[in-house]
This record gives sequence, C-alpha cells and structure tokens, in this order.
Amino acid sequence: MGLRIFNTLSRSVQEFVPLDPAGRQVGMYCCGPTVYDFAHIGNWRTFVFADLVRRYLEFKGYELRHVMNITDVEDKIIRRVRETQTPLREFTGQYEAAFLEDLKTLNCRRPHHTPRATEHIPEIISLIEQLLARGLAYQAGDGSVYFSIEKYRGCGCAYGQLVKLNFDEMRVGERVQSDEYAKESVADFALWKARVPDDGEVFWPSPWGEGRPGWHIECSAMSMKVLGQSFDLHLGGEDLMFPHHEDEIAQSEGATGQPFVKYWLHGAFLLVEGRKMSKSLGNFFTLRDLLGKGFSGREIRYALISAHYRETFNFTLENLQGARTALARIDECLGKLRELANAAKPPGAAPGDLLTEFTAALDNDLNVAAAWGAVFDWVRATNRRLAAGELDAAMATAALAEWEKVDSVLGIGVVADAEAPPEIIELLEARQAARQAKDFKRSDAIRDELKAKGWIIEDTPKGPKLKQA
Ligand code: AMP
Ligand code: ZN
Repeated sequence: MGLRIFNTLSRSVQEFVPLDPAGRQVGMYCCGPTVYDFAHIGNWRTFVFADLVRRYLEFKGYELRHVMNITDVEDKIIRRVRETQTPLREFTGQYEAAFLEDLKTLNCRRPHHTPRATEHIPEIISLIEQLLARGLAYQAGDGSVYFSIEKYRGCGCAYGQLVKLNFDEMRVGERVQSDEYAKESVADFALWKARVPDDGEVFWPSPWGEGRPGWHIECSAMSMKVLGQSFDLHLGGEDLMFPHHEDEIAQSEGATGQPFVKYWLHGAFLLVEGRKMSKSLGNFFTLRDLLGKGFSGREIRYALISAHYRETFNFTLENLQGARTALARIDECLGKLRELANAAKPPGAAPGDLLTEFTAALDNDLNVAAAWGAVFDWVRATNRRLAAGELDAAMATAALAEWEKVDSVLGIGVVADAEAPPEIIELLEARQAARQAKDFKRSDAIRDELKAKGWIIEDTPKGPKLKQA
C-alpha cells in the first residue's frame, strides 16, 4: 500500500502521488527558522516532523529534494538588529549557526538546500515585477508594493484555499504592512516594504526605491527557484496556514498561472503543560535548555515524534523521563541482539514482521504513534524469544538489519558518547581528573551526580564510557 497523507488543501487524506511522471522525484519545502533567537522546542516539533516526512519518503524509495529556507530578514529581525545595534548578517549568523547545530543534535538530516532570503533579493524583485506586470500588485503612496487581493480574485483565482475567509467584511484596497495579521483582517499585504528610518542599514535598491522584501514573498521566490513553479510538498506549523501560506499561494499562482503546491502538510502545535509556551509563564524551553537539564538529543527527538503530527502535543519534563525509559528498553533489546549476532554467519529470517507493521502505520497519514506501537511489540516479542533461546545468531543479525531500516526513519540511533551534553562531558572529565589525583571520594561523588542526571560511567579498557541510565 502507498503512503496516504492529510492534505490541508483538500482537507482530506489523499494518496501521495508525486508530480514526477516517473513517480520517483519529490520536491519538498519546509518554512525554515526566522533567525532572530534560538529555536524553541515548539519550533523543533515542526522541524523534526519535517525530518520524519523526509526520512519516510526516502525510506519509501523516493528521490527527495528537501529545501528549508532561512528567514534572515523580516519585521522581528529588523527590530532586534536595531535594539542590539549589530549588523544584520552578524546578528542572524549566530542564530543560523545555532540552528544548524541543533538540527544535528536532534539527528535531523540536513536539508539539501538552505537558501537565505537576503541572498535572493534579485529573484524576489523579479517575482514582484511579474505580479506588477499581471496587474496583481501596485505601489502605494508610502512607496511600498502591495498584493491586490481584489485583482487576484477578479482573475478567478481563489484566495483562501487553505482556510475559510469571510470577504464580506473586507474593505477593498485596505492594506497591512506587518507580516503577521489575523484572519479577520484580510487585506492587501506588502511584497516590498519601502525603507523607513527604523530599518537602519537594512535595505536594498529596487525598481521601487530602497526597501526590503515582505516575509511571504521570500518563501515563494526561494521555493520556486529551487523546486520549480509547481512542486509536491510544502510543510510548516499550523500557525503558518494564514496568512503566510495563503499569501505564498496567491503570489506564486498569481505570478505563474500554475498550481503552486500539490500537498500542504501542517503540524499541530506543541504546548507545555497544556499552555502556550511563553517566557512570562516560565515554560519556555530552547533545545539548549533541555540539554542543560541533562536530557540528550535522542530523548528529545523521541518525545517530539511520539505523537501524531496532527494532534496537539502536550510537552512535559515527564515526557522526557518517559523517553529515557522507552529508549533504554530498545537499547537493551538491541544490545542483546548484537551480542547474539556477533558470531553470525549469513543472515537468516528476521523474527516477526516489524517492517510490515511499521510501514502500514506510517503509510496511514504518518501515524507515528502506531509505528512506535509496532516497535515496542517487536521489542517485547524479541525479548521473549531471546529469553526462550529461540533465536540464533543469523536471526539476530536479520533482526538488527530490520531495525536499521526502521531507525533510518525514526533516527533515534544508538547511544553515543557524543550525544552527551557538554555539561555531562565536563563532569566526566572532572571525574577522570579526580581519579588521576587519587581523590576517590570526589570521583565517587561525581559518579553519583552523573547518575542522578541519568548517566552511568562504564570503565572499559579503552577508557570510561558514558551510558544513559
Ligand atoms: P518561526 O521561526 O517563528 O518562523 O517558526 C518556525 C516554525 O515553527 C514554523 O513552521 C512555525 O509554524 C513552527 N512553530 C512555532 N511555534 C510552534 C509550536 N508551539 N509548536 C509547533 N510548531 C511551532
Ligand atoms: Zn514560508
């Protein structure tokens, strides 16, 4: 059976059929981070979801082109650049680097393309020129260029393909400067924003005078540049449906006259203890905050992909404790299989049908909860068969090969020293120093501290190794 996914465009679960007539190549665009701060775990839920979609499509044999833009100029960035008095590139560069590092920590495959908006100003300008030439955009008295919703609708195009909009209340020609606005205030949105004093040094020349692009046009220009006028998949968090994705559709289809995206996938929000994450509520976590609490990238990844992507996920620190226990069960079973497989000759038949059940679960609108169910059923059955002495080395090797395929999608891998957060590595080093100084009281105290943080030290002939408790 093939993959079926919920397409926001049709509001229904549809069979996934790529645009490529050969059915092999797939283009996927995911709205990337706005690099004005560290990404928080809500953002990470969406990015890890995109990684899961990518990995699953690759598992199914598609040749994927995965694009994730870096939004490095928009309203919030300009404000921060002004407040911190840092040059734009320097300011965004630090958060972009942190983002790419976090992506690795969470074992996300790096997108094939990560275009920066500031490096696509010519493409953005040319897209706006096309919209002007088609009569769908106009320059207003303030010097900015706006998209005309009235003209667009007048051409028989649909504005509001992803969300229902009420046009009765709309006042024709009313404009909105800000990149973010509510559904109730549908209005002509800015494609090019004329330079104002608050923009400081952030501006580019254009046929309409100095200024900068609006946020929405950035994604239209970058996605179509890499993937062409029409492509298969576009992803983002549910908050981006309006206005961001609706505006992307209008700009792209308005300029090219072609359908923009075949399948729109939106991930539901992550809440913390049932509430929206906010600094004032003290429930705001970046990935680094959680690493600092002693959790590892794979535990956080596990928690973020434990729930179905269309369900709101309620994040708690207990989730991460649960992730630790669940992963330990998998690791223990794999460890036993490895031990048994060590003497293996050619692979035999794999026990159980993990792959069949796993694939059936994910084919069904990426039902990851059912996929984990299949994994844990397999762990239970494998443990039982190991205990009963029913598996031989060849079967263990085959089982491990099957697991490798499953893990190419889940990406939780195996525990590695490198996974330990810097704080834990530092403690390990301090313990080594204490041992060398024969301060065993201190080295034992550090060992206990590590244990309390969920890490066990194993002294091996090759030196100490960290294992998660
Ligand atoms: P931003 O960097 O603000 O442009 O957001 C990056 C991505 O994170 C977008 O796809 C958002 O929809 C998504 N996002 C923001 N907050 C959350 C949240 N609490 N849960 C899930 N996704 C989120
Ligand atoms: Zn976007």
